[in-house]
Amino acid sequence: MAGLVAAAEARRLGASPVVFEKLDRPGGSMRLSSGVVWRHRELDRFGAECPGGDPLLQRLLFERVDEDLRWLESLGAPVVERETGNELTTGVRFDPAGMTAALAEAARDVRLSTPLHRLPDSAPVILATGGFAADRELLREHVTPEADHVLVRAAPGATGDGLRLGLAAGAATGAGLGDVYARAMPAPPARVDPADFVALSQLYARHAEVSNERGERFATATWSEVDTAQWMTRQPRARAWFRVSDAALSERVRERSVGDMVEAAEAAGAPVRREPGQVTVETVAGVTTTLGGLAIDGSAQAAPGVFACGADAGGIATGGYASGLAGALVFGRIAARAALGEAP
Ligand SMILES: Cc1cc2nc3c(=O)[nH]c(=O)nc-3n(C[C@H](O)[C@H](O)[C@H](O)COP(=O)(O)OP(=O)(O)OC[C@H]3O[C@@H](n4cnc5c(N)ncnc54)[C@H](O)[C@@H]3O)c2cc1C
Repeated sequence: MAGLVAAAEARRLGASPVVFEKLDRPGGSMRLSSGVVWRHRELDRFGAECPGGDPLLQRLLFERVDEDLRWLESLGAPVVERETGNELTTGVRFDPAGMTAALAEAARDVRLSTPLHRLPDSAPVILATGGFAADRELLREHVTPEADHVLVRAAPGATGDGLRLGLAAGAATGAGLGDVYARAMPAPPARVDPADFVALSQLYARHAEVSNERGERFATATWSEVDTAQWMTRQPRARAWFRVSDAALSERVRERSVGDMVEAAEAAGAPVRREPGQVTVETVAGVTTTLGGLAIDGSAQAAPGVFACGADAGGIATGGYASGLAGALVFGRIAARAALGEAP
């Protein structure tokens, strides 16, 4: 997303940017996402939930995103809903395919199946390669020794190219390189296609007894359940068992009931054990976005002439979770302005 946003913003400013996209389709993980671009309602709450994040970057995201949402809508990104379904946050849900198409059209020169392997000698460059959620080596190095077992719940292009290129150009890593946004997903032998990443998420730790294969328990303490999913990434085989009572099956988490989610996992082929009065689902951590990356300043600059945004930029949601789409939107626009010498 961030690269398309940066290019669209650069076009608006009269430049002729080129987007290099290594896959044969644009949009990366944005295209697979739920499309909810959001922020916390209170800046203090954002800081408290993401205590390791850079306060300057958090404030920029918080202050800019509402205006940037209007800009995104003005490009023709189709709005599905004007609320997030969460009283702690505010934002807009877009149709991911429509949002991708609108941004690609505004970006104009998007060269598909064209990976960027080295930085150009001239012209400023904006790194927006989507972090490293799809690279098991980097996940093993920075996130978890159980990297071989996690489900990669991200677009396949997110292999850390921006991190490598940025470091080679003299950039540093930001705080929380090991932080990821993840979701509990149906465990193997379940079949989980990318198109089902959203529908198959198991988002009911708050109603479940969660344990690892040694029987050790974890109690979730966040509304996003990111703490549970992060814990899962580090457990043996990245697995956890969610046990819920029959009474909890009718509890709702946003638009789905717990029972709906359990049934979806069962239909996908996950090990599900039904016993009198309770049901237990085997789940695996699905790493969705890395939250750590290159250190950037308030101009999204990571090194002289090298800018980073989206999941390539770390240090925003450190210690918690914030909207990756909002970060891509806000810092994509900031990077474009700064790269062109405009006030960011
Ligand atoms: C299932 C799912 C649901 C999600 N739901 C939400 C949500 O509702 N709200 C939210 O805020 N976030 C959500 N996210 C997270 C969100 O999608 C990401 O945070 C966001 O897409 C990150 O933007 P990005 O631009 O950094 O990466 P991407 O959108 O992945 O774009 C990066 C692009 O760079 C390309 N690329 C990589 N390397 C190279 C290279 N060397 N050369 C050229 N191109 C390259 C990739 O192929 C990709 O197209 C979700 C993610 C998933 C997978």
